[in-house]
Amino acid sequence: MFKRRSLYIILLFTLTFAACKKTDVDDGKDYVTLGTSAHDLLVAAPYSSLTIEIQYMPGYEPDNASVTNLESFLNQYINKPDGIKVVVEPIPASSKSTLSLNDIVSIEKKYRTVFTTNNQIAVHILITDADYDASNIFATSYWNTSFCVFGKTVSDNSGRAGQITRSQLLTVLFEHEFGHLLGLVNQGSPMQTNHQDVANGAHCINKKCLMYYDIETSAISATSPLPSLDANCVADLRANGGK
Ligand SMILES: [Zn+2]
Ligand SMILES: [Zn+2]
Repeated sequence: MFKRRSLYIILLFTLTFAACKKTDVDDGKDYVTLGTSAHDLLVAAPYSSLTIEIQYMPGYEPDNASVTNLESFLNQYINKPDGIKVVVEPIPASSKSTLSLNDIVSIEKKYRTVFTTNNQIAVHILITDADYDASNIFATSYWNTSFCVFGKTVSDNSGRAGQITRSQLLTVLFEHEFGHLLGLVNQGSPMQTNHQDVANGAHCINKKCLMYYDIETSAISATSPLPSLDANCVADLRANGGK
């Protein structure tokens, strides 16, 4: 969520090319601006179900608890009467030590198989075997139905004595990034009261909130009990059609 302006420029550039490369399954509802699908993710119609496709590189399979925790989190806030389905699949190694935003976008476009269509909204989560080349962050959201978790960075910063477990860190990152797809903060779900940390983009000013900015950059803030959404963030989701 840092360097937002330059991210957008890169994405606009990429989208220009993407427009020429649509496949039969991608009917243009994915791969648009972050936050655009917040309302559609929160409400029951026209998308009565949500399918999450998690694709991971070798060695970075998410544990069952982190996936289950994400599902419970979503069931708390979004209305999907036909259910939330999660598909977890391996993809090949990146063969790189760092990945750029363009690399991430290319990998997603190469392997993603589930798209928003008919009554199903789809979200793609990529877990990489490399660090981000732009800054030292654990995860980033970049489109309306896409985010990336840097699996190697997460593993390097969790699981040792005195650290958060990898499962807990993955849980917090899955939930935080999904919070961005749900329009938090002030990017798709309008604020009901002013609580945006403007200096740090689409984040919440509350240090204890799941949407505090440094959850993407510091495992220290993701300590037990795991952070959850504060009242201001929940109010924004409710006002935009959430539970
Ligand atoms: Zn964030
Ligand atoms: Zn908050």
